Amino acid sequence: MFNKVDERIIDNLIGICGTNDVLIEEEELERYSQDESGRFYAHMPEVVIRAENTEEISKVLKLANENLIPVTPRGAGSGVVGGAVPVYGGILLSLEKMNQILEIDKVNLVAIAEPGVVTNDLCKKVAEEGLFYPGYPMSVETSFLGGNVATNAGGSKVIKYGNTGHHILGLEVVFPSGEVLPLGGKRRKDSSGYNLLNLMVGSEGTLGVFSKITVNLIPLPLYTVDLLVPFSTVESAIQTVPEVIRESKVLPCAVEFLDRLSVELASIYTKCRWEYQEQAEAYLLIQFDGNSKVQLEESYIRAGEACLKFGALEVFVAENPFASERLWRLRRNYLEAIKAVDPYVVTGDAVVPTSLIPRMLKRIKEIGDEYGTDILCAAHAGDGNIHSAPLRPENIPPEEWQSIQEEILDKIAVEASSLGGAPSGEHGIGYVKKKALYISKKREIPVMREVKKVFDPNGIMNPGKIF
Ligand SMILES: Cc1cc2nc3c(=O)[nH]c(=O)nc-3n(C[C@H](O)[C@H](O)[C@H](O)COP(=O)(O)OP(=O)(O)OC[C@H]3O[C@@H](n4cnc5c(N)ncnc54)[C@H](O)[C@@H]3O)c2cc1C
Repeated sequence: MFNKVDERIIDNLIGICGTNDVLIEEEELERYSQDESGRFYAHMPEVVIRAENTEEISKVLKLANENLIPVTPRGAGSGVVGGAVPVYGGILLSLEKMNQILEIDKVNLVAIAEPGVVTNDLCKKVAEEGLFYPGYPMSVETSFLGGNVATNAGGSKVIKYGNTGHHILGLEVVFPSGEVLPLGGKRRKDSSGYNLLNLMVGSEGTLGVFSKITVNLIPLPLYTVDLLVPFSTVESAIQTVPEVIRESKVLPCAVEFLDRLSVELASIYTKCRWEYQEQAEAYLLIQFDGNSKVQLEESYIRAGEACLKFGALEVFVAENPFASERLWRLRRNYLEAIKAVDPYVVTGDAVVPTSLIPRMLKRIKEIGDEYGTDILCAAHAGDGNIHSAPLRPENIPPEEWQSIQEEILDKIAVEASSLGGAPSGEHGIGYVKKKALYISKKREIPVMREVKKVFDPNGIMNPGKIF
């Protein structure tokens, strides 16, 4: 179906990007053969291109399109669904060199950046100006802005601020024909025709390549307060979430749930303990932000009272950055901690309406029992997004476990969809979750395929993903 990259193509690519940015040696290609979905999903590219500007991207895509060569865009490779893995070989288009923040516009409250900017670099830069980019995921220190847009990343603050897509005001997109199309911009409203900008967000590199990104900024909140709340049962923790949100009178910016095993592993990994680890079966980590200390205090006292009413063992308040960091370090490292125990683990991120989280957690436990395994659960409980990680039983070798693990995660994803949710809340579909998408969005897939054909008639953009 696709052609191979031959010497003529390599010569052309060198002509476009220069010798240094066209990588063909096996050791160099290896690094780009997998993302955080791990070794079992790895595939070698035939060549890696490190683009330095829009013009180079445009020429590379045009060349690939005319010669029917697949192209896989790649950000930081922190994705967990194989999205940046070149499953058909071909050209891997790395955006790592396009890492400039081009503008911080304090009047229009936007920033314009290249796709290879590490998201945390943007967050820190705008914070120096008293501004805040709220669309960042938990992988903020490693992932790139372009990858965040392509996966419509979420994070812990979606309940208050929305996911990455909520903060994307403009994109410069390069299509396989080589055409460069600016969409949106610094304007905040646009009811003029179809919303192509939103269509690009979450397209996982299957429609075009983002070469410039305009993001929304807001004033940086002056204060944050975190509550760590241990519970003796999973049910009481999760049933408290809607109460906390209602009783606090203002939206918390994060309501995170972690079960006992997740906390235990993250605690070993980070060498940091949370209070009540011996007794607690589950925790909520709740954050409020704002500009008035008095109002914050009122909110967290109300939230704390709601937690105690629903059976919290205790409520711990972290009011300074050091105490907060101790809590969030453990939460942020949850995935790495699981990977330290099982490097081949794949995590699901199904999403359900928040009212159905208790039911979904119960179902996940039942599915775990069916397969004779523990499934670790952590959730962005405020927005219904549940991360589940089936732990490999010691007697099953990784090669055998891989397909069982996929089956478990597909079951969870399909179950979530049947409850009015979706297979992925923030990681995307990529290569790993195609089956779950196929089962749960059967009627939408033919429409999605038609949309893809409009932008990418030859199907060269990140083939093997989503569908
Ligand atoms: C420890 C850890 C924590 C994480 N926490 C979160 C979290 O809280 N929330 C969350 O949503 N995800 C999380 N992730 C997953 C991952 O970090 C996100 O999916 C992230 O958005 C991927 O960005 P990236 O730059 O690494 O993209 P990559 O993995 O390189 O690529 C991801 C997809 O985007 C496409 N792509 C990349 N750049 C472009 C571009 N410029 N134009 C078009 N397509 C492009 C790729 O083709 C691929 O399909 C986490 C991962 C880890 C390892």
